[in-house]
Amino acid sequence: MSNETLQAVRGMNDILPDEAGLWLWFEEVVRDWLASYGYRNIRMPLVEPTALFCRAIGEVTDIVEKEMYSFEDSLNGDQLTLRPEGTASCVRAVLQHNLLYNAPQRLYYSGPMFRHERPQKGRYRQFHQVGVEALGFAGPDIDAEQIMMCARLWKKLGLTDVTLQINTLGDSACRQRHRAKLIAYFEQNQALLDAEATRRLHSNPLRILDSKNPAMQELIEAAPKLMDELSTEAIDHFAAVQAILTQHGVVFEINPRLVRGLDYYNRTVFEWVTARLGAQGTICAGGRYDGLVEQIGGKPAPAMGFAMGVERLLVLLQEAGMPLPKPSVDVYVVHQGDLAARLASGVAEQLRDDNLRVVLHCGGGSFKSQMKKADASCAVVAVVIGDDEAVANEVSVKPMQGGVQVRVNVQDLTATINKLIKQE
Ligand code: ATP
Ligand code: MG
Repeated sequence: MSNETLQAVRGMNDILPDEAGLWLWFEEVVRDWLASYGYRNIRMPLVEPTALFCRAIGEVTDIVEKEMYSFEDSLNGDQLTLRPEGTASCVRAVLQHNLLYNAPQRLYYSGPMFRHERPQKGRYRQFHQVGVEALGFAGPDIDAEQIMMCARLWKKLGLTDVTLQINTLGDSACRQRHRAKLIAYFEQNQALLDAEATRRLHSNPLRILDSKNPAMQELIEAAPKLMDELSTEAIDHFAAVQAILTQHGVVFEINPRLVRGLDYYNRTVFEWVTARLGAQGTICAGGRYDGLVEQIGGKPAPAMGFAMGVERLLVLLQEAGMPLPKPSVDVYVVHQGDLAARLASGVAEQLRDDNLRVVLHCGGGSFKSQMKKADASCAVVAVVIGDDEAVANEVSVKPMQGGVQVRVNVQDLTATINKLIKQE
């Protein structure tokens, strides 16, 4: 057996303690933000039957064709997949537990997703999303609510470099008319299609519009537009969404080429984009998916949702100058001698009873080396205990940012420390 150091799987990252501080801060902001709109947390398994994603996302999509981590359960032969996104699982859970019965739901989840993509900055094989889903709502008000929620979050996070693109995909009848026209158009121009487009011509012609191949841009530009096939209902719905956004001063751009990579969307789709992250510029994307509940086996119910990529958001925050939050402990307890050690652990427990965050020095060493550790911990105060203090049931309190060291009775310690923390 080789004893080479083992490495994490490519594209799957460790989030180390220095960086995890930023994640914790972000997660707290996100929790408060979602609560302020009445969205409730739901937690689904990381592994689902493969069939769920094939049915929900669509067979001819990037995710199902080439990005899923699928495997056979070696015990019973079940076909399983590490979830590549959360919407399908969320809808499955809602149906399985009958949550939609008589009650619309505002839900959110967060956690890792898995896609077998080429790793690069902002694109990983295990990445994290915060996903938001509203099920049982048909009107344009919920579409606008979700887009406005995002705008509020960017404001809370201090992000200014993101812009909003919206589009409508119409209803299934509009899309079928458009699809037929697209196929006819691309068939007439088959010589100009690249291999991928040719492959998609009959299975998913809409995705050809998404191609980044420069040689096909002119052809795509002149292709039949979905806009020309929209029903009055779809047009009215989209106009109502825009009116609400405008009423609230949310600036948007209509991008007729925004089609999204998953099959289940209809009507409103949107993306929040930044120019700062190169090709990985979409930080948040979503839309309406009125057909999905029925597709997964439920009674038809309209729905709307979006997901944001946490890694991309955090990179953006750091590029905008957001400092990494400092580790936060209040007290570092240093001690020397047997009697002092006994008092020190008692004092540390007492301070934790009083809701302070305390690191008790472990492992011995000189006062000088212990104080270095206290400094590195970013504690506000050090509590210093030698045997002479211990005999008197007293401790010394040293403010780490300078100031006078004082000696106090153990009973008065919490009050003394709280005063110093307040002065910080
Ligand atoms: P892209 O076009 O960048 O591949 P997508 O359309 O596949 O994105 P969605 O399925 O809409 O992405 O997922 C929502 C968000 O999750 C994306 O906007 C992005 O911020 C993030 N995301 C998607 N795939 C990855 C990945 N492999 N690594 C990191 N973040 C990702
Ligand atoms: Mg993708």
